[in-house]
Amino acid sequence: MKTTRIVKVGNTKIGGGSPISVQSMLSVSSHNYDAVYAQTKALADAGCDIVRLAVPDIDAVESVRHLKKSDITLPIVADIHFDYKIALACCAAGVDKIRINPGNIGSREKVAEVVAACRDGGIPIRIGVNGGSLKKEILEKYGAPTAEALAESAMEHVRILEDLNFEDIVISIKSSDVRTMIGANRLLHEWCDYPLHIGVTEAGSAHIGTIKSAVGIGSLLCDGIGDTIRVSLTADPLLEVKEGKALLGALGLGGGLIDLVSCPTCGRTKISLIDLVERFEEEYMPELHPSRRIKVAIMGCAVNGPGEAREADIGCAGGNGEALLFKKGEIVGKYSEDVILDVLRDEINKM
Ligand code: SF4
Repeated sequence: MKTTRIVKVGNTKIGGGSPISVQSMLSVSSHNYDAVYAQTKALADAGCDIVRLAVPDIDAVESVRHLKKSDITLPIVADIHFDYKIALACCAAGVDKIRINPGNIGSREKVAEVVAACRDGGIPIRIGVNGGSLKKEILEKYGAPTAEALAESAMEHVRILEDLNFEDIVISIKSSDVRTMIGANRLLHEWCDYPLHIGVTEAGSAHIGTIKSAVGIGSLLCDGIGDTIRVSLTADPLLEVKEGKALLGALGLGGGLIDLVSCPTCGRTKISLIDLVERFEEEYMPELHPSRRIKVAIMGCAVNGPGEAREADIGCAGGNGEALLFKKGEIVGKYSEDVILDVLRDEINKM
């Protein structure tokens, strides 16, 4: 498995074996500073590691300036298309990273100005190639936005920066097609050692988008590919962060301290397990602060329940309206289903 180089984005490191960071993007207007601040703060509180905002014109740079002067420490990425002056203004405003494609800026002089400003400010550049915005020549060569076309396009942009001796680069290749996105990132992983920002773009609604992201991002992360992620959803960005963290948690790559195991229920279940698990996830999990990552099992009966509950750090196995509590493989009590979640919460918080 190849180790990527480390790129510093504000107070967060991407690549080189650093923890996989979860990103999201603001959905409020970049001209409404109060809304920009409020949404960024909410994302930071939800555990977002890096936030990006669109900077469509020079007026929107004011939002970057305000954020960088505020109490928010979350690294801020400015998403800029075409206009190098906006990139320069964002650098002057103290932005932590810019997303711009050097091949779209125009003359070499303009690219060099942006690179110089980034170098001076220690600001990395994220190159972002999308299936929907490939150059005509590359599309003609491959006939479609294939994995090879996307990867080659990204490397063209990379070379422009490398020619200017600038290598503080993160690359993202995104496609709304899960297999294309996986293939393109595998190629890039072979071709270079820049950290990769991975995600399925325009993935769709909260439901289908989460599934596509889990398959696309999850496949790559399982192979050790990917340094930072975004679960891109047609939904509230807070949900992107929640699902991103859950995705990392499912792979044991961080994303929260609770690894929840629960059974699907069946004809043997004599406890309101679905309700208990939903309430545990929604109401109790946000309040749990164990000192390390722990596995919690909430199981329906005494068939598979005790086994899973024993395997977990802590767990319960349902009986008839009650549950046995297991800790480190030992039964430590029996509680009514009315109180079992409170007992679990109190025990977990002691761990
Ligand atoms: S643990 Fe028990 S209740 Fe849950 S699915 Fe398995 S057999 Fe059914």
